[in-house]
Amino acid sequence: MSAAGIGYIGDPMRPAVLFPLFADVTSLPGIGPRFGKLIAKLAGPKVADLLWHRPFGLIDRRFQPSVADAPEGRVCTLKVRIEEHVPPPNPKRPYRVLARDSSGTVELVFFHARGDWLTKALPIGEIRLVSGRVERFRGHVQMAHPDRIVGEDQADELLKLEPTYPLTAGLPAGTLRKAIELAVERAPELPEWMDGPLKDQRRWPSWRQAIGFIHGPSGPGDLEPTASARVRLAYDELLSNQLALALMRAHQKKQAGRRTKGDGKLRARILKALPYSLTQSQITADAEIAGDMADDKRMLRLLQGDVGSGKTVVALLAMISAVEAGSQAALMAPTEILARQHFATIEPLATAAGVPVALLTGRDKGKKRDEILAGFENGSIPIAVGTHALVQEGVAFRDLALAVVDEQHRFGVDQRVELSSKGKAVDVLAMTATPIPRTLMLAAYGDLDVSRLTEKPAGRKPVDTRTVPLERLAEVIDAVGRAMASGGQVFWVCPLIEDNPDSPMDETAAAEVRHAELAARFGADRVALVHGKLKAAEKDKAMGAFSEGVAKLLVATTVIEVGVDVPAATVMVIEHAERFGLAQLHQLRGRIGRGDKPATCLLLYQTPVGEAAKARLATLRETDDGFRIAEEDLRLRGAGEVLGKRQSGMPEFRAADLAVHSDLLPIAADDVKLILAKDPELESERGKALRTLLYLFERDAAVRYLRSG
Ligand code: ADP
Ligand code: MG
Repeated sequence: MSAAGIGYIGDPMRPAVLFPLFADVTSLPGIGPRFGKLIAKLAGPKVADLLWHRPFGLIDRRFQPSVADAPEGRVCTLKVRIEEHVPPPNPKRPYRVLARDSSGTVELVFFHARGDWLTKALPIGEIRLVSGRVERFRGHVQMAHPDRIVGEDQADELLKLEPTYPLTAGLPAGTLRKAIELAVERAPELPEWMDGPLKDQRRWPSWRQAIGFIHGPSGPGDLEPTASARVRLAYDELLSNQLALALMRAHQKKQAGRRTKGDGKLRARILKALPYSLTQSQITADAEIAGDMADDKRMLRLLQGDVGSGKTVVALLAMISAVEAGSQAALMAPTEILARQHFATIEPLATAAGVPVALLTGRDKGKKRDEILAGFENGSIPIAVGTHALVQEGVAFRDLALAVVDEQHRFGVDQRVELSSKGKAVDVLAMTATPIPRTLMLAAYGDLDVSRLTEKPAGRKPVDTRTVPLERLAEVIDAVGRAMASGGQVFWVCPLIEDNPDSPMDETAAAEVRHAELAARFGADRVALVHGKLKAAEKDKAMGAFSEGVAKLLVATTVIEVGVDVPAATVMVIEHAERFGLAQLHQLRGRIGRGDKPATCLLLYQTPVGEAAKARLATLRETDDGFRIAEEDLRLRGAGEVLGKRQSGMPEFRAADLAVHSDLLPIAADDVKLILAKDPELESERGKALRTLLYLFERDAAVRYLRSG
C-alpha cells in the first residue's frame, strides 16, 4: 500500500506496519470529507484515533422476542416479514411500514422518510431483522426509526452486544460505529513490546486482541477501566510515555556539562549569617544539588517543597557554589511579588557574605537597568534574581553556571530552557511548591532527579483550621478584631467569582467592598488592599504596609496565593472557601503559620455545600501535609485537572487514566530502566517492537534520540 495514496499523516520514519493506522480517516470506506471533519473533531484525524475512541455503553441486540411478547420501552430485535408500505397522506404524517411474524403485527414508523430508500431497505414479502426500541400505542406494537435494519444473511453481525460511542452533532451513530469497526479491522498484528513474564502474569491479551475487546465488549464489565484489555492498553501508553522521557533524559545527560565546585568559604559565611539551622531535608537537598553541580554532567533537578518549607535558602546555597567557582547564578520567578520575596530573603544573606546581588524585573528601566545589566555582563554582580525580565534580549552574563527557575504551580519547561540558554552548559534547578503526587511526577518528568523538602522548619505550629458558615460573618469580624488587638496580622481572602454574566461583581469589586467595610470598622490606615487590577506601585505600597506591620489586615484576591512571606500573620480568613480548589486552599493557608505563634485559618462557606466541596474542606481541616492533600486532590478531580492540563505540560493520555491506572506507572518506569540498561539503542527484537510502540503513541521525537532513529 502506498503511504501517499491513503492520506499519510506525519513522520516518514514510522514503521510501515503502522501506515494503515496513520492514514486519514477519510481513507475508510463510507467516510468522506464531511464525516471526516466531524470524526477529526470528535476523536482525531487519523484511523488510529478511532481506536482510542472508547465505547461508553452497550446495547444488547441479541434480545429477540416475538412481536407479541416484545416489551414496551426495551430495545428488541424482531424478525419479521414486510407486508405493506403506507406512505403518509400529507408530509406532516409519518410513513408507515407494516410487518409481522407469526405472533402479530408491528408498525415501523418513519418521520420525514424518503420512500425510495424505504422500499429498498424494506421490500415487501421479504424477511428483515429490525432492531430498536419497542413502543405500544393503542394496542399496536410500534417501532419508530429502527436503529438497524438487515437481511437474514447479516443476522450474525447484528445479533451482538453493540457498543455505543460518544458522538458529536451531525455524525450518525451508525456511521461512527461502522468507521470504528473498519479501523479495528485495519489494526495490524504488531510485534510484542511487552515484557513476556509481565504479560503472562497479568494475563494480558496482545495489543490487537485488546483493541478488539475494547470495541467488541462481551459485557458491561469490559467497559470498565479495570478490564484486562483496557489495562493492557493503558500500560502500553504509560510504557511509551516513560520510555520517551527516559530517552530524552539519556540524551540530555550526554550533553556536555561542567564541574562547578567552590571552596566553601562563602557558603560558610552564609550558614553563619542564618538566624536558624537548616532542617535535615534542607541539608540533604543541598548536598544532592552540590553533588550534581560538581559532577561533569548537566544538572536537571527538581526541588520540591511545600510553601514555607525553605526552598529559597537551598537555592541560595547552590548559587553560592557557582559564585565560589568564579561563575554566576540566576533565579527566575513567575511573578514580581515572588521575585521580590526571594530577593528579600537572599539579599541580606548574600550581603553578609560579601556577594553582590541584584533584582531585575520589568519595572526596572533606564539608568538603573543599564547598571544592573552591565553588572551581569561584566560579572561584578554574580547573583541575579528576577522575573521574566532576566531572559529578555539584551540580558547577558559573563559566565552563567546555574539557572534556578521557581515554577510554583506550572511545569515551566520553556522558562528553564530560556534561562539556561544565557550561559554555557548551565546546570538547572527547578523549584516547585506543588507537592505533586509521585505518579503525576513520573508522568510529567519521568525519572527526574528530585530533592524533596518534607519537613517544616523547626518551631512552626500546625495551623488550626476551622470551617464556619458565612452567616456567622459578624462573629468572624469580631474575632479578627481581637486578633489584631493582641498584635496579630490577618489575611482576608476574597472569593473567586464564578463566571456569571448576571453577577454585577467581579473579584476586584468584591475585594473593594469588603475592604471598605473592614476599613470603616478598624481604621483605614490599618487595613490594606491588593488585587490584580492595582498599579504596581499601589500594590507595592499595600504589600509593604502589611509586611512592615503598619497595616494589620490585608484584604486580597488570590494574587497573594503566590509568594508573600509575613511571619507575623497568624490569621487567614477565606471567604467562599467552597469555591476554591484543594491545592489552592492549601497554598493560601501556607501563608500563615510561618512564625512561632499559633495560627488560625477560617474557611467561610456558603450553605448548602456540595459533596465535593465538603470533602475538600474536610481534608483541609484534617491535614496540612501537602503531599497527602495532593493525592486527595488527584482522587477528587482526576489527573488532568490537578495541574491544569494546558499550562502544566502534563501529557494527555488516551488509553490511560491516571486516577485509575497510576499504579502501572512505577512498573512501567522500572521496566524502562531494565530495557535501557540492556538495550540502550533499542536494537534488539524487543527494542524494535518498542520503537513501534513509540510511534504508535506518537512519541516520534523520542525515537530521534536513538543512534539509528
Ligand atoms: P518556600 O520558598 O519554600 O515557600 P521560603 O524559602 O520562603 O519557603 O522560606 C519560608 C520562611 O522560612 C522564610 O522566612 C525563611 O527565612 C524561613 N526558613 C527557611 N528555612 C528555615 C529553617 N531551617 N528554620 C527556620 N526558618 C527557616
Ligand atoms: Mg554539573
